[in-house]
Amino acid sequence: MQHVKDIDPEIHSLIKQEEERQADKIRLIASENYVSRAVLEATGSVLTNKYSEGYAGRRYYEGQQIIDQVENLAINRAKKLFAAEHVNVQPYSGSPANLAVYLAFLNPGDTILGMALPHGGHLTHGAQVSISGRYFNAQSYQLDRHTGRLNYEQIRATAHAVRPKILIAGHSAYPRILDFRLFREIADEVQALLMVDMAHFAGLVAGGAHPSPLPYADVVTSTTHKSLRGPRGAMILCRAEHAQAIDKAVFPGIQGGPHDNTTAAIAVALKEADTQAFRDYAAQVVRNAATLAEALMAKGFTLITDGTDNHLMLIDLSNKGISGKMASRALDQAGIVLNSNAVPFDQRKPFDPSGIRLGTPAVTSRGFKEEEMRTVSEMIAKVVDDPGNHQLLARTAAQARELCRAHPAPGLEHLLQVAPGD
Ligand SMILES: *Cc1c(COP(=O)(O)O)cnc(C)c1O
Repeated sequence: MQHVKDIDPEIHSLIKQEEERQADKIRLIASENYVSRAVLEATGSVLTNKYSEGYAGRRYYEGQQIIDQVENLAINRAKKLFAAEHVNVQPYSGSPANLAVYLAFLNPGDTILGMALPHGGHLTHGAQVSISGRYFNAQSYQLDRHTGRLNYEQIRATAHAVRPKILIAGHSAYPRILDFRLFREIADEVQALLMVDMAHFAGLVAGGAHPSPLPYADVVTSTTHKSLRGPRGAMILCRAEHAQAIDKAVFPGIQGGPHDNTTAAIAVALKEADTQAFRDYAAQVVRNAATLAEALMAKGFTLITDGTDNHLMLIDLSNKGISGKMASRALDQAGIVLNSNAVPFDQRKPFDPSGIRLGTPAVTSRGFKEEEMRTVSEMIAKVVDDPGNHQLLARTAAQARELCRAHPAPGLEHLLQVAPGD
């Protein structure tokens, strides 16, 4: 980072501080991860200098000899890893990827049906504040009040009542595996397209720790930076018959030139994901989540659906006499970073909801296993029981740092050369 340091000491200092934060905190935000040094290098490469609007062999500017190969590598690796007929790796992020799907198949005012935002759906699945809710007739399905799970008969009834053009499956905060076969059945009954947004669990699918939506969905969207552990970016995977519509919707539909440095980093991440080491990682993410869930329930925490079968869990703190925001703030001071989150049928406001969301992709990347998860559960329980105890928070933060230094995070190993205890 010598050049950043010379030219812009302010930004250099901030990057260094963020490196330290990521190195020394137990990061349980379910959508975050640590990319490898290789992914960081590709992201920071001179590929950022190139313009390449269009697709390989059909670009608008010259000089694509190398970029075409980069993009084709990313596409072919994604096709192989996910058994997809067609892949577009150009979306800038998950939100534009979803918007591109809507542009490909919908006219303004058409009906979409997705999971309600306060029940774990994503903004881009039709929330009123999002373009997906403003420009389309966005209908939603909710979780079952008693089980906290999806009720497929209710989804079916809603689909028959509103007749969506696109039925959306996928979430940002649902701790259970989706029944893609049932979603397919429902979509067929109402002649809807089935779109699965696997942004959160794509890494588990890649690693064989979660069923794949590919055999069932017409279109699958995904971010590349969550459990898949790549750079910030996204992909759209679809059946061959939709290839043209999807490609046209991404470019020139909603985007200009792709971020070629990101494309290269996606290719690297996909290569990493197609290894036994990554399959072991994905399995460990799920085991760690299950272990943390069990340990927290044993300490009296209320988990939505009484557990998890993916990488995340949602906790309702109502019985602990603390709001989600208060808990997440205290935990952050104690070196454990997560986010407050609405729970199904939450009585509190979205900015200070009743719950917290926890996920294991990042801590698993740094080598935390079952034993560390049990330690983390004890740390969380103590802080939630006594969030105003500043000594406890400081002590827990020191414990978090120690635990983290014993398990250096990918991409941040160089920090270890600094003397410990500084
Ligand atoms: C994170 C997420 C997205 C959006 O990704 P961004 O890259 O933040 O735009 C879309 N869908 C789901 C389900 C997500 O969890």
